[in-house]
Amino acid sequence: MKDRSLDEFQNEKPQGDAATTVPKTTPTMDWTPEGAACSDCGENVHRRWRDADGNGRLVCVSCKRWA
Ligand SMILES: [Zn+2]
Repeated sequence: MKDRSLDEFQNEKPQGDAATTVPKTTPTMDWTPEGAACSDCGENVHRRWRDADGNGRLVCVSCKRWA
């Protein structure tokens, strides 16, 4: 039985390539435990959604425009 040299191990492809290619996603929903004002109507709500315009506003369920 022939021993493998250290160089052989170093030349092997590294594992875990898939873990580094996870796409970054922007969360569409925001949860604020103490509540936060809707950017449209100003109502204080726990759960707000990112407006579809992409302007970063967070609106309540009533103001959210569902595509
Ligand atoms: Zn609202």
